[in-house]
Amino acid sequence: SSTPTAERLAFDRTASTSPRSDAERAEILAEPGFGKHFTDHMVAIDWTIEGGWHDARVQPYGPLLLDPAASVLHYAQEIFEGLKAYRHADGSVWTFRPEKNAERLQRSARRLALPELPTETFIDSVKEMVRTDLAWVPSGDDQSLYLRPFMIANESFLGVRSAQRVGYYVIASPAGAYFTGGVKPVSIWLSTEYSRAGRGGTGAAKCGGNYAASLLPQNEAAANGCAQVLFLDAETGTRVDELGGMNVFLVYRDGRVVTPALSGAILEGVTRESIIQLVRDRGIEVEEREVLIDEWRDGVASGEIAEVFACGTAAVITPIGELKGEGFSVGDPTAPAGELTMSIRSELTDIQYGRIADRHGWLTRL
Ligand code: PMP
Repeated sequence: SSTPTAERLAFDRTASTSPRSDAERAEILAEPGFGKHFTDHMVAIDWTIEGGWHDARVQPYGPLLLDPAASVLHYAQEIFEGLKAYRHADGSVWTFRPEKNAERLQRSARRLALPELPTETFIDSVKEMVRTDLAWVPSGDDQSLYLRPFMIANESFLGVRSAQRVGYYVIASPAGAYFTGGVKPVSIWLSTEYSRAGRGGTGAAKCGGNYAASLLPQNEAAANGCAQVLFLDAETGTRVDELGGMNVFLVYRDGRVVTPALSGAILEGVTRESIIQLVRDRGIEVEEREVLIDEWRDGVASGEIAEVFACGTAAVITPIGELKGEGFSVGDPTAPAGELTMSIRSELTDIQYGRIADRHGWLTRL
């Protein structure tokens, strides 16, 4: 194993800080938005090739001191995660399947030649972050504390090789309801010019470079009135991969549910996997297989496909009302969200917020 840490790391919490006042925090929590405000603290753990993971600590939120030659700034050796802390009605705070994020961060680390953080340390880091800034977990409907663990190559060396010095951090940002005024279907843009991931590439890793490469097509989507961009496979340009930041599902009128199989080119979404489970629990068949863009386009046009939705941690489930591309559009952007889309969305959020039983043991108390 490339995880040198045998014993559990203890977190140093002694760094002094001046948290914002209750009034300042209340003002932010009244309208948090997404990714705009950060809590008072952050978690940091260092790694060196000689010493492994060490110096786990909670420190005041603030700028990192990076050498201008730090390798992350030049060769983008960086990976990250995204998960949420949810406040239940009794005030307790929970997170959803954090071991899945820990394992995905390990897979991303392997692909980006970064050190693997043990699952236990990942979960401890999330617990430290949330327990320290517990007052920042909002309690409003569909609100949460978004957690962003990330790892960067932090060695001052311009040679192109994997860094021997790395930093791991967790920051936290209060998040408002993604949809205010009800869940509303979005339009998405089919990119035919750009790809997100190629064979043997980094599509299945959650690394910053994938998102940098998606910004130009994402701008094109926005210029065409669309919320996100849909990518096809790079080799043939015929298969559906995923959106810039979400996985996709098609729901047939006859009840079947279809989603692109994990091909190595798409991100293994925790929401995707959880939805597959919840749909199968209902006795509905879920096909994980190759999905051609023509199947989607023709199926929506003919009415055979009744619902299309996207999923991810940030928005949970977003109905897709319309698919647009160069010279075509299918679907009705004004139609209401589909029945299965909305009922799976409610079931998943009911589990996350503790409103129904957690029958799969997906929640971890923070
Ligand atoms: N695909 C991509 C490219 C993403 O960035 C995300 C968000 N992490 C997802 C899918 C959904 O993953 P998850 O359900 O784990 O949030």
